[in-house]
Amino acid sequence: MKLEEMKPCEIEKVLREAPIVYIPWGSLEWHGEQNPIGLDTLKVYHLCLRAVRKTGGVVFPPLYCGYETMKPYLGFKRTLEVSKETIQSLAREYLEQLYDEGFRIFVILMGHYGARHVEALKEVANEFLKKHPDAKGIFAPDPAFLSEKGIRGGHADYYETSLMMFFRPELVDLSLLPTGRDLTIEKDGIGGDDPRKATIEEGERIANLLVEELARQVKELKKELENLERG
Ligand SMILES: [Zn+2]
Repeated sequence: MKLEEMKPCEIEKVLREAPIVYIPWGSLEWHGEQNPIGLDTLKVYHLCLRAVRKTGGVVFPPLYCGYETMKPYLGFKRTLEVSKETIQSLAREYLEQLYDEGFRIFVILMGHYGARHVEALKEVANEFLKKHPDAKGIFAPDPAFLSEKGIRGGHADYYETSLMMFFRPELVDLSLLPTGRDLTIEKDGIGGDDPRKATIEEGERIANLLVEELARQVKELKKELENLERG
């Protein structure tokens, strides 16, 4: 199910059964002292790998490519800022090429969710869907699948840190966080609920709820696509 590891005959089988491609799209960006800078991508990559098991399809190689990161926003280093033009070109070319390959359901799961980054990708995605009436897609940041579950996703916060601890516990070190004061976006590059309370168990709970909802929405699109082909 990892596209880069599949042989042509395996890809052809997937295209016949479930022409779904998940694109995990994140960044290399400061995520507090406690987390690896690739958190956004690692997070959505693991979520996609779980969702694809429920729906069929393939997972595209994870992308580390974020626009409107903590670097221009608040001057945080250990961050690679990529331009809007670059992420839009990449999105356009990958979507078109994957369409040409025969995929028809496209999921861009955005682990980095700066407002302008999300807007830039959605703009390209919507143009793409307009151009190809037989293509379907979901283009959204990961917390969007939890909005009805009362779970909020912030930046390097309780939510993101818990998910990271669940997927890759060896990459998180909570002891690196300051103690005895509040954590802030300006000083710590952390926005949202307190990551010092993050746990593996909570990461597992969030991941399960998220994957369930994502897979449900993808299965809906698969049904719509099948109706379209029949009709
Ligand atoms: Zn993040």
